[in-house]
Amino acid sequence: MRVLVTGAAGFIGAHVCERLLARGDTVVGLDALDAAPGDVALRRSRLQRLSGARGFTFLSGDITGAARLGETFTAARPEGVVHLAARVGVRAPDAEAPAYADTNVTGFVRVLEACREAKVAHLVYASSSSVYGAATPAPFREDAPVDQPLNLYGATKRANELMAHAYSHLHQLPASGLRFFTVYGPWGRPDMAPLLFLRALSRGEPLRLHGDGRMRRDFTFVDDVAEAVLRVLDRPPTGSPPHRLLNVGHGEPVALGDFVGLLERHWGAKARVTSVPAQPAEMASTWADTSRLEAETGFRPRVSVDEGVARLVAWYREWMGTHR
Ligand code: NAD
Repeated sequence: MRVLVTGAAGFIGAHVCERLLARGDTVVGLDALDAAPGDVALRRSRLQRLSGARGFTFLSGDITGAARLGETFTAARPEGVVHLAARVGVRAPDAEAPAYADTNVTGFVRVLEACREAKVAHLVYASSSSVYGAATPAPFREDAPVDQPLNLYGATKRANELMAHAYSHLHQLPASGLRFFTVYGPWGRPDMAPLLFLRALSRGEPLRLHGDGRMRRDFTFVDDVAEAVLRVLDRPPTGSPPHRLLNVGHGEPVALGDFVGLLERHWGAKARVTSVPAQPAEMASTWADTSRLEAETGFRPRVSVDEGVARLVAWYREWMGTHR
């Protein structure tokens, strides 16, 4: 299959590209790279690992650039699109709110338009557990009410789901929105808790734990997420309209305090924990009901949090050794 992956230099994007290439697909990776906020060096390292692979082409580009995006899609002639590019993180500073809307809302419409014009057979796009907000009873099912997001990021992701549904209805664009739950693993995001915690632990610095350590997250290992993306990509929705939403989570929430305990055990040192108040943008708990994903794709996440943390720590040791 020819697949275009936006956000290819990102954490999940690089893992998805790697898997697609490993099974022989042709992959065009698109990413704003230096122009997007975040750790540019890490993005470049992820790309470097992909660049030698047969069947991989990288294009530096911004999804908010309408004309160029259309050209890119036309030239790439993708059968499938995996859209992962976004402004990420639930604690966006107020000053960045318009930039979140530009990339996550306007950029998303540009992707939908480009998919329509290029007659893409299946668009798989990243939504988030953030759409569930505070009011949803756990474990979260896809048909639960999702009209009370706790942050702008979650609101933009819910907007994506609604826009994809409308495009699917109007233009018969097959589209699947994946609600990812706290993804972690090698080559992960330095702004997310697992790597923030590991960095503090490895340096003997205070580890800032939001809330009292009882906040729970459904930590999902990145290999499981990449596998789920491929399984979904291979199975376009057939309903009317051809749009569906699927949770991609591990299905077993872990208290942050326990997650820190696992990191300590695998790293081999005690953390100096400092408690800081939980923020209004943060959900107290996330927990995926993954039965729909399993029914549609036969896939169940496989990597336990213990094994996932071991693999994260092993990567981090190696990474630290070469990137101090
Ligand atoms: P990431 O930040 O590592 O990757 C996003 C990539 O998008 C980056 O490489 C960035 O350069 C690129 N990008 C940003 N703005 C762009 C633009 N305007 N044009 C082109 N490229 C742009 O994030 P990730 O963790 O890999 O997340 C991938 C997707 O999954 C995102 O849509 C995110 O919202 C969603 N998601 C992630 C998690 C998680 O736990 N990591 C959870 C829920 C949802």
